Amino acid sequence: MANHYSDVLIIGAGLSGIGAACHLRRELPNKSFVILERRQAIGGTWDLFRYPGIRSDSDMYTLGYNFKPWSNPLAIADGPSILEYIRETAAEYNVEDQIRFGHHVKRAYWDSSQAIWSVEANADNGELVRYTCRFILCCAGYYNYDGGYQPDFPGVDSFKGKIIHPQKWPEDLDYSGKKVVVIGSGATAVTLVPAMADKVESITMLQRSPTYILSLPREDAVSNFLRRFLPEKLVYRLARTRNIFLSLLLYKMSRAFPQAMANFIRKQALKQIGHGLDSKHLTPRYAPWDERLCIVPDGDLFQALSTGKASIETDQIDSFTETGIKLKSGKELEADIVVTATGLVIQPLGGAELFLDGKPFDITQKLCYKGVMLQDLPNLGLVFGYTNASWTLKADIVTEYIFRVLGHMDQKGMRQCTPRNQDDIVQFRPFLDMTSGYIKRAEGTIPHQGSKAPWRLHQNYALDLMMLRYGKLDDGVLEFSNPTGQQFATPASSVAAD
Ligand SMILES: Cc1cc2nc3c(=O)[nH]c(=O)nc-3n(C[C@H](O)[C@H](O)[C@H](O)COP(=O)(O)OP(=O)(O)OC[C@H]3O[C@@H](n4cnc5c(N)ncnc54)[C@H](O)[C@@H]3O)c2cc1C
Repeated sequence: MANHYSDVLIIGAGLSGIGAACHLRRELPNKSFVILERRQAIGGTWDLFRYPGIRSDSDMYTLGYNFKPWSNPLAIADGPSILEYIRETAAEYNVEDQIRFGHHVKRAYWDSSQAIWSVEANADNGELVRYTCRFILCCAGYYNYDGGYQPDFPGVDSFKGKIIHPQKWPEDLDYSGKKVVVIGSGATAVTLVPAMADKVESITMLQRSPTYILSLPREDAVSNFLRRFLPEKLVYRLARTRNIFLSLLLYKMSRAFPQAMANFIRKQALKQIGHGLDSKHLTPRYAPWDERLCIVPDGDLFQALSTGKASIETDQIDSFTETGIKLKSGKELEADIVVTATGLVIQPLGGAELFLDGKPFDITQKLCYKGVMLQDLPNLGLVFGYTNASWTLKADIVTEYIFRVLGHMDQKGMRQCTPRNQDDIVQFRPFLDMTSGYIKRAEGTIPHQGSKAPWRLHQNYALDLMMLRYGKLDDGVLEFSNPTGQQFATPASSVAAD
């Protein structure tokens, strides 16, 4: 079995993995690294999802990297443009050569006596490949790439039409003139309905319960105007700062005045739809931001609803029939195609198993330190973005923090850093305090957050920035050690020299 060494091993070549590699080039240019990517392409989410209308649901000034301006006039961008941005960034920082495609990371073993990780990946050619490294940065996203969540609907086998999950959209699917039902009310459903509405005979969004849906401008007129006079970087920074502030404000207002925000969000939707849509379809059972808020650019969903071609049903599925779906209310929806926009299957660490000094390491029994590392597990960083703001806002500062830790270890001659909880009063809390189905389903498979700092997850960019960029590294919780007693020397067969 071949064995390759690098200082840093990044799992995943999506938005976060490519960003991490570029940060490493910028912040610790002497470190060697490799990216192991299970697929044959970069981009992760933005390459995998191919359903009609695939787009961001947060603005690109905050979903873009902090070091690479987003210069496309569209602030809420389509999937292919985001993929192009990731590819362009990878090329600009010359990181593509370090990606090993078709390498699915399966296991990682930490050996304290050597202070080194040994990582096993299944290569597409059937080979088991071993990599060793000093630090793992896991950028494997948060869901299982093998398939999305598909509930067991009664009678589904009797349905004569097509059933499609957005995670596996068939390239050749022709939906012109067809009757389509989209099951779900999340970001994917609200994207699909307006994107397909033009071609179909009818399209119904079938939701068990409604979601908060807010219309935002697709283009940022102010930035597009400023771009005529000001340098790109400055426009990006201004828009980014403003949008960070606005999204924090929206979140805080939603938490402080849930009823007022709920009314505001519902009213703006009903106003744009313009005809008598029953407001029950837009009245969620929960407060704004108990689950992720859905964004629709320029109210495209509301426009599709206003034409009458698209509709919403709020009901439960009784069973599938040969020709469609029977609802608990007794109503039947005819369908040629049913799209199950029923969500993702959360999968931490890209499904990789971890071992600490020969023993399996159970992440579900551990706290997450600063939302970045796992209690008692040395030299592994997790890049996990926000659920209430753009993912990359956090991915950027997590990555910068990890590289600051690496630089500090070099300076101090340390080889191992391990978060240790010495505080008995820290209580275990769910990692994410949202009630979304996919998060509830994931309970018991993910680590916990703690009841107090530094184990508490802030979900707040300003607080995270203070903690991760400016906070003390040697805080008495992150234990720095050198169990080998040796300074680190890069083994001769480095990946960088592959
Ligand atoms: C349809 C959709 C729309 C979204 N829209 C937004 C949005 O508008 N704003 C927002 O903030 N967030 C959004 N998200 C969340 C989104 O996932 C993040 O924005 C971002 O793309 C995450 O990037 P990532 O690189 O961390 O993860 P991913 O994009 O999931 O990439 C992970 C990479 O790791 C690879 N990988 C996984 N496991 C392994 C393994 N074991 N071995 C090797 N490689 C592995 C995968 O193949 C993939 O390439 C969206 C998610 C989805 C599904």
